[in-house]
Amino acid sequence: MAETIVDAFRQKTGLESVRTAWIGGSATWGARCPEDVDPSVPVVPLGGFTTPFGESYPLKLIFVEGEPVLRARMHGWHRNNPALDYSHTLQLFYIFRELGVQQILVDASVGGITAKPWDIVVPDDFVTVDQFTRYEARRFAAAVGLRRQVRLAQPFCPRLREVVIAAVRQSGDILPAHVQLHTRGVYFNTPLGPFETAAEIRSFQAQGADVVGMTLAMEAMLARLNRMCLVSLDIVANWAEGLEGGEWIEGGMDQFYERCAVPLGIVGLRALTAAVRQARACHCADIAGVVDGVAKFPVE
Ligand SMILES: [Zn+2]
Repeated sequence: MAETIVDAFRQKTGLESVRTAWIGGSATWGARCPEDVDPSVPVVPLGGFTTPFGESYPLKLIFVEGEPVLRARMHGWHRNNPALDYSHTLQLFYIFRELGVQQILVDASVGGITAKPWDIVVPDDFVTVDQFTRYEARRFAAAVGLRRQVRLAQPFCPRLREVVIAAVRQSGDILPAHVQLHTRGVYFNTPLGPFETAAEIRSFQAQGADVVGMTLAMEAMLARLNRMCLVSLDIVANWAEGLEGGEWIEGGMDQFYERCAVPLGIVGLRALTAAVRQARACHCADIAGVVDGVAKFPVE
C-alpha cells in the first residue's frame, strides 16, 4: 500500500496531525521565513507530499509557542513550473485536510485601490472575476467527496481576523510610521497571469474593490469547502494600474519585497502566537451548510 500523507508526516515529525498552517505569499517571499525573520523558531524540513493533484512543493514544520505550524512558501507554487494553474493550491489543501488542519494564516501582497502602498489590509470579503477558481473548487470537492455547493457568507474567519488586526496594532515598533491598518476590505481576485489594465481597475473600483490580487479567492473557497478557518494578512505593494502613482518604479518591485518580508513575517509570527492555542469560537466549521439537500431528493 502506498505511503499516506499522515505516514510520511509521522515519520518526519513524530506527530499525527497539525492544527495550524501558514501559507506564505508575496508579503514574505523576500526572505527565508521564519529563518531570516526569527532564527529562534524551530524548523523541520518536510519535503514535498504526494497528492491526487500532483507532488507538492516542499513544506516546513515550524514551532510557535511550542505548537506545530505547517509553513508553505509562496502559496505552494513550484519554482520553474510552466503550468501556472491552481494545482499548487489544491495540493496544499489536500495535505491540510489529511493532516487535520483547522486554521490557516495567509500572507500576500496586493495592488491598492482604496489603500496606499505599505498599508496593511485584513479583508473581510472577496469577489472573484476568475471563474476558473470555482471550477477548481468543484474539482477538489469532487475528488475528495465534499459538497460542491457551500455558502460563502463571511469567507474570512472573524476570530482570526481579530487576531491578525491585534498583531498589526502591536507591531508599530517594526512597521513604517505611515502604514495604515484597514480592518476590513474587499479583495478582487483576478486570474493568474498578466496584471490588470487601468480600465479594469476603474471597473473594479466602481464595484467596491479595495485591493486586487490573484490568489486569495481560491484559498478562501478551499478553506470553506474543508470547513477550515482562514485569514489573510495583505500588504499593499503598489497602487493598482492607472491610479495615483501606479507606474512601476525603475528597477521593479524587488526593493519593496526585500524591505517588507521581515516585518510582515514578524507580524505573522505574532498573530500565530495568539492563534495556535486559541479555542475555535467561530462558525467557520458549520457555516458552509450542514444539510445535504441533494441526498433528500428521490432517486429515479
Ligand atoms: Zn473561524
